[in-house]
Amino acid sequence: MVEHGHETVVLCHDRATGMQAIIALHDTTLGPGLGGTRFRRYATEDEALVDVLRLSRGMTYKNAAAGLDLGGGKAVLLGDPRTDRTPELLEAYGRAVDRLGGSYLTAEDVGTTQADMDVLKRVTPYVTGASGGSGDPSPATAWGVFHAVRATLAFLGHDVERLEGRHVVVVGVGKVGGALVAHLVEAGAQVTVSDVDPVRVTDLAVRFGVGIVGPDLAHRVPCDVLSPCALGAGLHAGTIPELACRAVVGAANNQLAEPEDALRLAGGGVLYAPDFVVNAGGVINIAEELRPGGYDPARARMAVERIAGNLTRVLEVARDEGITTEAAAERVAERRIQAARRQPTSPAAAPGAAG
Ligand code: NAD
Repeated sequence: MVEHGHETVVLCHDRATGMQAIIALHDTTLGPGLGGTRFRRYATEDEALVDVLRLSRGMTYKNAAAGLDLGGGKAVLLGDPRTDRTPELLEAYGRAVDRLGGSYLTAEDVGTTQADMDVLKRVTPYVTGASGGSGDPSPATAWGVFHAVRATLAFLGHDVERLEGRHVVVVGVGKVGGALVAHLVEAGAQVTVSDVDPVRVTDLAVRFGVGIVGPDLAHRVPCDVLSPCALGAGLHAGTIPELACRAVVGAANNQLAEPEDALRLAGGGVLYAPDFVVNAGGVINIAEELRPGGYDPARARMAVERIAGNLTRVLEVARDEGITTEAAAERVAERRIQAARRQPTSPAAAPGAAG
């Protein structure tokens, strides 16, 4: 906790159900810590602790860089979601969230579902993403990635009113990547898609006439933007020298295999749009639930579009201060937090108010 500046880590156990969870609040300077509950089996309690510390810290940066008045939090529920998920266990976990009095706001994550959020909501109001709320975050994430692609192309000096003549390669066309392809085609871009699932790429080729490339070759296709929307760690010492794109702008979490990859990309002349700035559409969308009056889809869509401005500022800081875009994104987030620390009475009270 001291090493990474975490504020609070709570170990939770319920005798009756055997529920075990760890809730971590990394930094709540900007507001309550918002982050999902990951339900998975860990080899050891230590492994779960390291994961929740890492993930909650990531949420601090993501929420701050997104301009949200929200801090960083995350929880892990220890167990196998396929066999250990019972309403009683989830309610016991919900009561643990409730005891934190709103300093932690939970949401869906790997291993948890909207139905689980509905169960938690029975025992605590500190839940987002339940039925009747903001719904599946993927369309909002895709909308945010689309605006990040446009902002990156604009930063590179292109006219982005229409994307005719621009070529984007989307790797991974699931919930986010598939929706992104539709936006890009609609805007006039040339699109090539890649996925390990042949049904998904064929479907998009039939619907939109997009090109197809195999997953092993996708990163080598000459294009304006490579958009990783599958799994993380795709950018590394092996793939970066083979890139033939001008920029990387995608939804996948943790795209850099190691911190040095940010330097490798910059050294290779590839503009990297930091993943946690680009893929914040989901969390921005969820934060809209916390606004007075509740969730409004049209307002949420506009809030997500602010990713373009957030990203442009990051790219400018990187250029002006001579640092990598990844370091610039962290710097922008840290500056917001530091400014709020200096003015503890500043309007960080309304969670979700994007500033
Ligand atoms: P998804 O599971 O719906 O889609 C992922 C797609 O990637 C699938 O079609 C899968 O077949 C494909 N894929 C897997 N391995 C691949 C490989 N090696 N090469 C090419 N394709 C491969 O997931 P999603 O919800 O669309 O999320 C995509 C990424 O975006 C993930 O990294 C996720 O963590 C991140 N993300 C998603 C959201 C969201 O709102 N869904 C928000 C933030 C970040």
